[in-house]
Amino acid sequence: MADARSFFGPDDPPPYTEECLEGDSDFLITVDHASARIPASLGTLGVSPSELTRHIAWDIGALGVARGLSRRLNATLIASNYSRLVIDCNRDPHVPSAIPLISEYTAIPGNEGLSEAARQQRVDALFTPYQSRIAALLDARAAAGRRTILVSQHSMTPTFKGQSRAMHAAILYNRDRRFAGAMLDLLRADPTRVIADNEPYFVSDDTDYTVPVHAERRGLLHVEIEVRQDLVTTDSGQAEWADRIAHALVQARQLCLGE
Ligand SMILES: [Zn+2]
Repeated sequence: MADARSFFGPDDPPPYTEECLEGDSDFLITVDHASARIPASLGTLGVSPSELTRHIAWDIGALGVARGLSRRLNATLIASNYSRLVIDCNRDPHVPSAIPLISEYTAIPGNEGLSEAARQQRVDALFTPYQSRIAALLDARAAAGRRTILVSQHSMTPTFKGQSRAMHAAILYNRDRRFAGAMLDLLRADPTRVIADNEPYFVSDDTDYTVPVHAERRGLLHVEIEVRQDLVTTDSGQAEWADRIAHALVQARQLCLGE
């Protein structure tokens, strides 16, 4: 592994943040795309500052919603502290787009022509610590006889490649719809909000990591949630969606567990 001290600058945070570690909830909340930060050694990746604040760099508002869920549910939260433009913490590092050369219409010059060592440095410094910590949290909970329902919180851009998205939020899943289906029904009980079913995209082994690897392989109940970013740019918007989602999570848990 390349020297981590030369990768992170003195003001850079650790690869991930954890909150509410003593939380007694069944829910574990993950935020793969919580931050737009780039390690100091990589500069701006050759991308303009205005581009680095857009959705291509991070899930705008997702961390605020997730923190709201953590507080409401007393649930442990883990969030990546670095941009998906450096390495996508929700994608198998062997998939080429884990370190994207282009995102939407924006080229990422700092990701072109990377050596194997440079790729591996990003995996070792950012992806592996975050994903290994999720695995360790799940292992510890299992060893303690605790149940886990994994909630993967994301947000989506309201417009992608010129296409507007009409849905306010989306429930995503891959092979296991048990918990996601319950969440969908509960959120759709409010007719004033449009909740999409596995659209505009869905969870897959190629495009995702957290849900397929941690939740599906362990047989855990889980859901991936997308909220449209323009609805959660403010504290009040984040609180509104945290209220809505937390309420549905509690009810879905009762429905799925019968308790
Ligand atoms: Zn995301």
